[in-house]
Parts: sequence; structure tokens; C-alpha cells
Amino acid sequence: MDEFEIIDRYFLRGSYPTGVVVGISDDGAVIENPAGEETVLATDTLVESVHFPVGTNALDLGHKSLAVNLSDLAAMGAVPRWALLNLVLPQADDDWISQFSLGFMSLADEYDVVLIGGDTCRGPLCITVTVVGTLPAGTAITRGGARPGDQIWISGSLGDASIGLGIVQAGVDPADPDEVWLMRRLNAPQPRVTLGCSLRGLASAAIDLSDGLLADLGHILHYSGGLGAVLEVSLLPVSPAALAVCGQRAARSSALAGGDDYELCFTVPRRHEAEIEALEKQQDHQITKIGEVCADEGIQLTGPDSKHYNVTGAGHLHNWPDGG
Ligand SMILES: [Mg+2]
Repeated sequence: MDEFEIIDRYFLRGSYPTGVVVGISDDGAVIENPAGEETVLATDTLVESVHFPVGTNALDLGHKSLAVNLSDLAAMGAVPRWALLNLVLPQADDDWISQFSLGFMSLADEYDVVLIGGDTCRGPLCITVTVVGTLPAGTAITRGGARPGDQIWISGSLGDASIGLGIVQAGVDPADPDEVWLMRRLNAPQPRVTLGCSLRGLASAAIDLSDGLLADLGHILHYSGGLGAVLEVSLLPVSPAALAVCGQRAARSSALAGGDDYELCFTVPRRHEAEIEALEKQQDHQITKIGEVCADEGIQLTGPDSKHYNVTGAGHLHNWPDGG
């Protein structure tokens, strides 16, 4: 199977929606920008043995390679529209590509994202996805807009993916439904696209949580001019599964430092608090206020148990042993 057969068979759709002037199969794609909108671009690479272990399910990889990119657009408040996919494959394995494309294209269809180009070639397994989104001019949410006194909010629950990673690394297929759920949080993250778009005009800054709360919130504080934050440990949203599998203290430590959750962390001026609370009801997705931005640099933890946790050495390093 050559490059063109792979594209024809698995990634080409019959026709393109409005906005795509020229799609896959020419030297470049041509897209029409909606009037009055700005373009947001993001790209992310997943390398075997670095970002995922050898033998990771192809369906999950297809989903995750697009999901992590849509998560970046969500953090900017952009509506995802187009994607490009570069696939480096050790061999053209029909089953593998069929499962991968199913995972990728199902998530693309869910958000009306159109695949408009890409490349395939032979080599060690590596997936690069580039996504293009749009938003009304001047409304992008960046990492740099937080101000002292802004509230800090989090979508979903934190720490699940890193606990799931521990289960994967243990190498035993879990039978416990909580463990299975935590592994799904690692392998099939859900990008918070709808929430991200709803935060335009409300959030002062936002980031998606790929490296862990302390590290990623640290980016917001840094780019907002060297600010700090006070977080209430008891407010950290941890899932019932995380609590059941590893107990409160380990679950909270994972919530602070564990990566790969792809939830959104955003800051909100107090005057918008009621609107954020209303969003939770509208979207039926948990959103939790966990603390406040302050002028003094550094992240401090408060609450009765806060001495059990530390804020140093945070950050998520991707490193898979070969064959692990
Ligand atoms: Mg990101």
C-alpha cells in the first residue's frame, strides 16, 4: 500500500464542506477564512517510546493525536476547523492504519474538523498533527492575561491520566472498573472544545493541562508578568476512581503534578464568577474554583492538609523505556 492508497482508503471523504477550496490530493490545501475571524494554529507530535509505549492501541492513538491538538485550540478559545496529519509508519499495516484512522476521523467528525492534508512515509512510528482553528478577531485567550485577584478554575478532574499511566506501566491488564476508567483518561482524553469557546470574553488567561497543574498554571503566572497563586488543596477536583484506587493523599499529589489530563485551567476576574458557574450547568461538565491569583510570585498551597504536599519539582516528563 503506497502513500496515495493509504490516503484514499482511510482519510479521504467524498466531498469537502464549504470553506475548503482545495483539499487533500493537491500540492497544498486552500481554505477560506470566515470574515472577521483570526486563525489559530497549533501542532503536536507523538513519538513511540517517548509519548506512548510500544504496542499502544492504534484506535486510541488516532484519537489522542488529534485530541491533544484540539485541546490546545480549546485553551485559546478557538473553534477547530481543519487538520493536517503526518504519519511516519514502520510498515503499512492495514489493520493498524484502519484502526488509527477510525480513532482520528471519529473525533474529527465529532467537532466538524476537516482533514485537508498531510504526508505519510516509512520510519519509526511518529505522528504529527497540525490543527487550524478560528475565532472572532481579538478574542483569543492567551496565557498572559491573568491579574492578581482573578479566580483560578479547572475543568473536570485532575491526576487521572498519571494514575492511569502507573497502571499501564505495571503491565497487567486491569480488571477493576476504576482502573480501566483511569486508563481511558490517559489513552482517550476528551478535548474541552465547547468549554474553551465559551470562555472567550470571560477568562483572562487559559492553558490546557498537559504537563500537570503546577507546571501549567506556572506558565500562566509567568506569562502574566511574574504573578503567584494560592491554591486550596481540599478544593482540588479528584475523581472517585482516583480516590478508590490510590487514596486521598496520592490522588491529590497526582492532581497537582500529574500530566496528560487535557483539562483546562483558566483564570477569571471575579465579576464573571456567576457566568462561569452558569457554564457548568449549561455544559453539564464539572468546573471547579481552586484558588486565586496573587501578586507575590510562586504557588502556595493552603488548607488543613496542605503541609503534606509540595510545590517543588513539579512537571511531567515524557520518557518511555523501549518496549515499555
Ligand atoms: Mg497546550
